[in-house]
Amino acid sequence: MLLEAYLKQLRLPTVLQNYRKFADDSARANRSYDHYLLALLEQEVAQREKNRQQRRIKAARFPALKDLATFDFSAVPDLNKVRVLDLARGEYIVKREPILMVGNPGVGKTHVATGLAAAACRQGYKVRFYNAAGLVNDMIQAQDEHRLTRLLNATLKHQLIVLDELGFIPFTPTGAQLIFQFCSALYEQVALIVTTNLRFADWTQVFGNERLTAALLDRLTHRAHILEFIGESYRFRQRMQQDAPHASQP
Ligand code: ADP
Ligand code: MG
Repeated sequence: MLLEAYLKQLRLPTVLQNYRKFADDSARANRSYDHYLLALLEQEVAQREKNRQQRRIKAARFPALKDLATFDFSAVPDLNKVRVLDLARGEYIVKREPILMVGNPGVGKTHVATGLAAAACRQGYKVRFYNAAGLVNDMIQAQDEHRLTRLLNATLKHQLIVLDELGFIPFTPTGAQLIFQFCSALYEQVALIVTTNLRFADWTQVFGNERLTAALLDRLTHRAHILEFIGESYRFRQRMQQDAPHASQP
């Protein structure tokens, strides 16, 4: 059919998919041609936006997609829900401000970081998620292949970078130096979400260099939103509740 060939050529797949059904509906409801065309194009535009959001989420390479809507804030009473939801609106991205999430393993830092970053993807921002140890390996390899500058320049094309599990594994001197170089390149250029289990006092030990640590902390905390996750591992607590469902009852 000629019409379908044209719709394919013009790359209007959602119009192609809907035009017949919408025509039947319009005829039955006695709607105008304008109304019919508007409804069809609205679908096409909405579908394209959805596809774009999905592409951005895929490109961000989240280890697992998590949303703020599925986060149980009551499990982390010290975390201010209103503040997190306010951050999700994305003003920190426009201002290129860092967010630092500090807390023990299992308290939901990666979940909230991913939730904020996924919200950013939906708002149209280019996002990339890195595990800190994985990033160091990528950077070492890039350095060996003389393309470290290219890697850093590619990173700067994003509007939000997530650096997960910073300090989880102690760095080698090279690793510490590379992470420092990475954060310096991003400083005031790209918004950065860092998750870490490190208390500020422990940073020097993990980075192994006092001067470098001070400079790194200075960059990460300058104008930063600091979210403290205090509590027990969420999964651990759930498991305890499953094992002893009546434990908390009088
Ligand atoms: P962290 O990064 O702090 O180690 P995660 O974000 O990886 O913790 O959380 C561990 C698991 O528990 C994930 O599957 C996460 O979705 C879930 N989780 C943690 N806290 C919560 C919470 N408050 N509400 C819902 N799920 C949670
Ligand atoms: Mg984590």
